[in-house]
Amino acid sequence: RLDLPPGAQAPETLVPPGAARDATDLTLDIVIPVFNEEEMLDLLVERLGQVFAPEVLARQGVASVRLVLVDDGSRDATARLLAERIRQGLPARLIRLSRNFGHQGAVCAGLDFADADLVAVMDADLQDPPEVVWEMLAAWRQGADVAFGRRRRRQGNVLKRLGYWGFYRLVGFLSEIDLPLDTGDFCLMDRSVVTALRRLPENLRFSRGLRAWVGFQQVAVPFDRPARAAGEPKYTWSKLYRLATDGIASMSTRPLQAAQLASFLFGVLTLLFLFLLVGFSQHLDVPRPFLFAYVLIATGNAVLAFCLYILGAYVGRTYLEVKGRPPYLVMELVERRAPPQKPHV
Ligand code: UDP
Ligand code: MG
Repeated sequence: RLDLPPGAQAPETLVPPGAARDATDLTLDIVIPVFNEEEMLDLLVERLGQVFAPEVLARQGVASVRLVLVDDGSRDATARLLAERIRQGLPARLIRLSRNFGHQGAVCAGLDFADADLVAVMDADLQDPPEVVWEMLAAWRQGADVAFGRRRRRQGNVLKRLGYWGFYRLVGFLSEIDLPLDTGDFCLMDRSVVTALRRLPENLRFSRGLRAWVGFQQVAVPFDRPARAAGEPKYTWSKLYRLATDGIASMSTRPLQAAQLASFLFGVLTLLFLFLLVGFSQHLDVPRPFLFAYVLIATGNAVLAFCLYILGAYVGRTYLEVKGRPPYLVMELVERRAPPQKPHV
C-alpha cells in the first residue's frame, strides 16, 4: 500500500486534467492475476509477445511494457514456469501471494506493484483480448483516465452468462454510484487513477466497483469476449457468489435499508392486526381472522429471516473490515535483476 502522510495529496493526482497526452515514451504495466493457469502460459506469453511487439510499441508511442503477474496461490506449475520465463528474459515481475486470496485480492496486489504511467488489468485466459489495450490507449490519448472493456457478446456457460447479466443489472440497480453494465476488470488506467485506488483503505476489494467509484474521465471500449483459450474456469460457483455478494455489499447499503423498511412495516402491520384481534375478539366467532393473522405472522417471519440474512451479510463484512487484515499477503517477488549499469566514463 502506498503510505501517505495524513492530509497529503499524491502528487500524481495534481496533474492538471487535459495535460498533454501525446507522449511517446510511455511506460505500460499489465496486471494479470493467475491461478492454476499452467495450460495458458505459453499461449498467453506468445499472444502478448505479438500484441506488444517492439515495432507495435514504437508505433503506439510506448517505450516499454512490463507484465505484473500475480500468482494467486496456484497449486500447479504456474509459479515455477513463470519464474523460469522471467529468468529467461520475459519483462515481468511475479508477485507470489502466500495462498489463494481470490481474483479481487490478486488484482489489488497487482495494482500495488505496478508503477508505470499506464496500468492495464486483464485475465490470464485471453478472454480479455490484449489488442483491445491499443483501443484503450487511443481513448486515453483523447483524454480518458480510465478506459474499461465492455462486453458486447459473451461466450461460455449459459447459466453463468445469465448470472453475470442479472448480477450487473442488480448491482447497477442497487448501488448508489453508476456502475457500468457488463464490465469486468479489463481496463487501462492512468497512473493517477491507480494512485487513487491504492488510497482506498477497504480490504474487501470489488475492483470494478471501486474503479467506477473513484470517478475521473471514464469511457467504455466495447469488445467481443471470446471463450477461454485453454484450461478450466478458475471461478467456482462459490467464488462467484462471493464476488456477487461482496460487490453488492461493498457498493451499496440499499439492501440494508430495504430490510429495515420491510421489517418495520411488517412489525407495525402485525402489531396492528393483533391489537384489532384482541380489541374485537368478543364480536368474532369465525376463525377467518385467525387464519389471516397466521398468514401475516408467517409472512412477517419470512421477511425477518430474509432481513437477518442481509444484516448478517453486512455485519460479517463490517467485522472483516474492522479487523483490518490486508487483502493479500506476498510470499515472494520474482524479478529479473537489472543488468549492471556501466559506470559513466
Ligand atoms: N483467478 C485468480 N484467483 C482465483 C480465481 C481466478 O487469480 O481465485 C484469475 C484467473 O487465473 C484468471 C482470472 O482470475 O486470470 C479470471 O478467472 P476465470 O477466467 O476463471 O473467470 P471467468 O472468466 O469465469 O470470469
Ligand atoms: Mg475467464
